[in-house]
Amino acid sequence: MTQHHQFDAIIVGGGGAGLMAALHTSKVANVAVVSKLYPTRSHTGAAQGGIAAALGNMEPDSWEWHMYDTVKGGDYLVDQDAAEFLARDAIDAVLELEHMGLPFDRTPDGKIEQRRFGGHTANFGEKAVMRACKAADRTGHMILQTLYQQCIKQKVNFFNEFFVTDLIVQDNICRGMVAIEMATSELHVFHAKAVMIASGGFGKMFQVTSNAHTLTGDPVAAVYRRGLPLEDMEFFQFHPTGIYKMGILLSEAARGEGAVFLNNDGERFMERYAPTLKDLAPRDMASRFIYQEIRAGRGIGGKDYVHMDFRPETINRLKSGPGGTEVTREHMEKSLPDIIEFVRVYMGLDPMTQPVPIQPTAHYAMGGIPTDVDARALADKSTVVAGLYAAGECACVSVHGANRLGTNSLVDIVVFGRRGGKHMAEFCKQAALAPLPADPEKDTAAEFDRIRNSKGTERAAVIRSDLQKLMMNNVGVYRNAADMQKAIDGVRELKARYAHVKIDDTGKLWNTDALENFELGCLLDLAEVTAVAALRRTESRGAHAREDYQARDDAHWLNHSMASLARGSWGVGVTGGEIRFDNKPVTITKFQPKERKY
Ligand SMILES: Cc1cc2nc3c(=O)[nH]c(=O)nc-3n(C[C@H](O)[C@H](O)[C@H](O)COP(=O)(O)OP(=O)(O)OC[C@H]3O[C@@H](n4cnc5c(N)ncnc54)[C@H](O)[C@@H]3O)c2cc1C
Repeated sequence: MTQHHQFDAIIVGGGGAGLMAALHTSKVANVAVVSKLYPTRSHTGAAQGGIAAALGNMEPDSWEWHMYDTVKGGDYLVDQDAAEFLARDAIDAVLELEHMGLPFDRTPDGKIEQRRFGGHTANFGEKAVMRACKAADRTGHMILQTLYQQCIKQKVNFFNEFFVTDLIVQDNICRGMVAIEMATSELHVFHAKAVMIASGGFGKMFQVTSNAHTLTGDPVAAVYRRGLPLEDMEFFQFHPTGIYKMGILLSEAARGEGAVFLNNDGERFMERYAPTLKDLAPRDMASRFIYQEIRAGRGIGGKDYVHMDFRPETINRLKSGPGGTEVTREHMEKSLPDIIEFVRVYMGLDPMTQPVPIQPTAHYAMGGIPTDVDARALADKSTVVAGLYAAGECACVSVHGANRLGTNSLVDIVVFGRRGGKHMAEFCKQAALAPLPADPEKDTAAEFDRIRNSKGTERAAVIRSDLQKLMMNNVGVYRNAADMQKAIDGVRELKARYAHVKIDDTGKLWNTDALENFELGCLLDLAEVTAVAALRRTESRGAHAREDYQARDDAHWLNHSMASLARGSWGVGVTGGEIRFDNKPVTITKFQPKERKY
């Protein structure tokens, strides 16, 4: 039996973006957060290094420099009106978190302590600046715990371990969504005036990734299946420092504290590529430079990795600490406890005495559900979908353009979670509840019947692993037409096989077998649009680096891509849909596109 619920607003996802929105909407409206994870398990809790805000606590800083760095870091594909909100509101949002009780690290005189991070500079690119506010390397954990406590205090309703499968949208009005209760497989229809998607990233389409197991983008795929566009899906960030072969992230905070990259010759090669910022160059560039070293045969022992060295003796010898200052082992252990522990546990190495093998790891989706600066989702270049919002990593507002700067995602989730939350509150005050169509859950029910009753011979785990390898090898840091075509053809073949997956568990209780199969279908849909959008963009910009089109081409491509599915039937991971594209102009206010040098 399907259960029905009614709220003013529903938020899909209990990560940083969802909880920040819930706090603000719930001040005036009846809100429920629906989350497939218990909220404090969301990926925001894995964020390590920090949250940027031009507080200027350590040295002079300004929000305009932060905005400039964000625009340049994003290779000028950033919408500058949104970047201005990001950089300006970051200051106030961090102070709001502080007042909620977030235990930030402190300077001796009690201010929020800050550190350097990639691409963040003083005076429009002059030198690295200390802008990242942090709680050791557990910043996201602290943000998530703090926001969750506030939500409990404010009596926000939570539906935890509810998996959202579908969006109810008709005549460009969002009316709610459909979810499956993970413990029982029971269907639930949530009827609301406003729905916010805050479901995080979808890095699980790649083999080597920093992303958690659950980051499969199901709600983003649901939006796409309902014919709404996705923006800039070709831009996926690879973070330069994943643990070799495992992809587990070692935060850029290590380089903020002075860590350097070394090649097989022991050379600090970033000095050659980025003379001003060196190891603190933005991630898209650092990942490419690592591959260039590997291709030139200077990977460690000729293999496909380089070293990150954060031994205090190396940092002090190279004077790579903040402002050239000396660092001690005690300082490193205190500033980076988790990542030092990760290296010890996962690699059996001691990073205080040994260099660490690292390799770029798929990290962050710049693209996603297009929104305006109030987090309202768009049906095309400019039309808002009434009652539908998106914020956080699943959204594309676009403050990150073609490449996100480190520490700017935590800013994004609190700034646009808050803006969206406030806007939803106002919207709920004046909007009426639009009626539901008949049987909104019927497509979800049919899909799960299909999954449970399939008589096929394919295994979801095999298809998932094939997909991850395909995307890693063909739509990774470096791209070209032949590889991307291989990825598109490959994803379509995998989709055809996906139709014949058989699962072992056909029961109703905690059927993770069925849910993971559904997630795989969502990943296949998102991987297809990622590869198709990437092949279409015949230039190199930010994280999209093409060997066959190496230059940035502002004359043709200074615009966002909007991809939507032209398909009559609803089905997860279904083959053969035509993908239509449109271009959306980039909003430029203060900074004209220039060549990116660091
Ligand atoms: C290892 C790591 C370290 C990082 N470090 C930093 C950093 O130092 N600084 C920085 O700025 N950024 C960092 N990032 C990026 C940043 O943490 C994320 O982009 C950001 O936290 C995403 O927040 P979110 O609220 O959008 O989504 P998430 O925190 O990922 O939350 C997503 C929510 O959606 C829910 N959800 C998903 N699918 C469904 C579904 N089908 N049904 C119901 N609910 C669903 C989940 O349950 C979850 O609650 C890091 C990322 C990683 C992976």
